[in-house]
Amino acid sequence: MPPPSTPLDRAIGSVVGSAVGDALGAPFEFGPEGAFSARFPPGAPDADEMRGGGGWDPGEATDDTQMAVLVGQSLLEHGELNDPDVFTRFQHWASADPKDIGLQTEDVLTNGLPWDRAAAHHFRITGRGAGNGALMRAATSAVHFAPLGTAATMDAARRLSALTHGDPAAWEGTALLHELIRVALTGADPLNAIPGALAHVPAAHRARYATVLAPDWHPDLATEFNGAVWPCLGSSVWALRTTASYESALRAAIDLGGDTDTVAAVTGALAGAVYGAGAIPPRWTTRLHVPLPGSATPALRLPELTALASRLTKAEPHHD
Ligand SMILES: [Mg+2]
Repeated sequence: MPPPSTPLDRAIGSVVGSAVGDALGAPFEFGPEGAFSARFPPGAPDADEMRGGGGWDPGEATDDTQMAVLVGQSLLEHGELNDPDVFTRFQHWASADPKDIGLQTEDVLTNGLPWDRAAAHHFRITGRGAGNGALMRAATSAVHFAPLGTAATMDAARRLSALTHGDPAAWEGTALLHELIRVALTGADPLNAIPGALAHVPAAHRARYATVLAPDWHPDLATEFNGAVWPCLGSSVWALRTTASYESALRAAIDLGGDTDTVAAVTGALAGAVYGAGAIPPRWTTRLHVPLPGSATPALRLPELTALASRLTKAEPHHD
C-alpha cells in the first residue's frame, strides 16, 4: 500500500493518472473486449505493458492528454478561464497535424467560426455533439477549479466543453466528472457524491446520467458506443466502483474495448484523484510522454506533468 495521499498528491495523481490511462489504452483503441488482459495477464506486472502500438510510441499520450495540457497551460498563463485563448490554442494544435484528433473536435476547430459559435454551429448542422472529447481532457481544469467548490467547478467545465461540443449533454457529463474529481481531491469517496452532483445537473439531462452512474449499471447496458459521453463516464465510474486500486481500475477500463484511450484517460483522472500519484505504477510512467504538436515545448514527461499539476493546484483560481 502506498502511504496516505495528500491533496496535492491526489491532484498530481489525477493529471498523471489520466495521461497514463490515455497512453496505456491507446494501442487497444477500437479493439475487442479483454484485449489488454489477454496480452498482459493480471497479477503479473510486466514492464512491457506501456509498449505502444497502433501508431503510438511506447508511453506516448494522445490528443486527450495533449488537449488537457493546453487547457492547463492557458489557465496558468491567464490566471483565469480565458475561453477564446483556450480555443485558439486548440486551433493552433489542430493545425499542426496531431497524430489523432476527434472528428467532431476537428470539424469545430477548423470551420472558421469564432470560439463562441463554432461548436454550436456544428451541432446545429450535424445534430452530433455528445462525444466524449471534452470529458477526456478534464483533469487539468478539474484540479485547478476544485478549491472554488461545486458550482464554479461545474460551470468552468461546461464552458470548456462548449468550446468543442455543442450538445449540452456533453457539458453536463464533463461537469459531473469535474465535480467527482473535486470530491476525490478532498479525500472523500466520489461514488458517494454522485447523487449530490446529479442534483446540479439540469433536469433535462439528469435521468440519463443517473442511469449510467447507478451502482447497478454495467458497461454492457450501454445504448451507445463508448465514444459517446454517457457510456464513457458511466464506464469510468463503473471501473472505479468495481476495483480496489488505480492499476486494476485502468485494466478494467481498457478491457472494455472500444474507445480505450479515452475511457482509460477518464478512469485514470478519477482513480488517480482517489488513490494519489503514489499508486501509479512506475513501470507506467517511465516512458510516459505528451508531445505537443505546434509547440516548441518538448514532450512533457513525468516531471513536467507533475509540475503542471502542482502549479494548477497552487495557483489561485479565478472565476468570473
Ligand atoms: Mg485519444
